[in-house]
Amino acid sequence: MSRKTWNSLDKPPLSEPVLEVVQSFGFELMTPVQTAAIPLLLARKDVSAEAVTGSGKTLAFLVPLLEILQRRHKETPWGAKEIGALIISPTRELARQISEVLAQFLEHEELEHLNQQLIVGGNSIEEDIVNIRQQTPCILVCTPGRLEDLFQRKGDDLNLAARVKSLEFLVLDEADRLLDLGFKTSVNNILGYLPRQRRTGLFSATQTTEVTDLIRAGLRNPVLVSVKEKAS
Ligand code: ADP
Ligand code: MG
Repeated sequence: MSRKTWNSLDKPPLSEPVLEVVQSFGFELMTPVQTAAIPLLLARKDVSAEAVTGSGKTLAFLVPLLEILQRRHKETPWGAKEIGALIISPTRELARQISEVLAQFLEHEELEHLNQQLIVGGNSIEEDIVNIRQQTPCILVCTPGRLEDLFQRKGDDLNLAARVKSLEFLVLDEADRLLDLGFKTSVNNILGYLPRQRRTGLFSATQTTEVTDLIRAGLRNPVLVSVKEKAS
């Protein structure tokens, strides 16, 4: 598959702040999975992308996620209790890595309003609740077990289901590993709390039968992208 430059995207082009941060990484060309998935997600399609480890899937979802949240923000600024995007990742370590890449974007002064919170097991759930209530993050980067616990929480005025009512974007990252690690029920329960009006991107290294079931449960008319090449 041909690779394009980041600034060759048109209809719509990437916003200046996102483009500036990507260029600060020194990546001139998009990888094949980025070239395929980003325009589709920007056009508000659901996407299921299969691409090997190391093919650049993180930016394939973070870039359109940031674009869509910014666009929404310009129309209606995010309310204090609204969560705009959820990223679900199978392990704490992977969630932390995504959160670190995201943090580099959110340091840009024009993206500072899109704050994030890392929601993973091992940290205190009480602290998670206090932070969500006080810092009102717009993007949650989560592992499924802890996110499900938060949705099921009653009686502490968190009401996560109400906070995701205008969710724009859901990412299921490393979907094959999510299922291998036994998170099928958790992820399906989480899907039950989310509004249908949203974009969903599902990313995996391999597309197993179980992944296909999850695509059916979580995505609407998805475009399937499959690439075999690595980033470099
Ligand atoms: P995956 O999630 O597909 O395993 P990652 O998103 O973790 O892959 O990216 C793998 C590596 O490729 C990272 O070091 C990342 O910084 C790098 N990378 C991402 N996009 C590009 C690009 N467009 N050009 C060159 N390297 C890239
Ligand atoms: Mg990855």
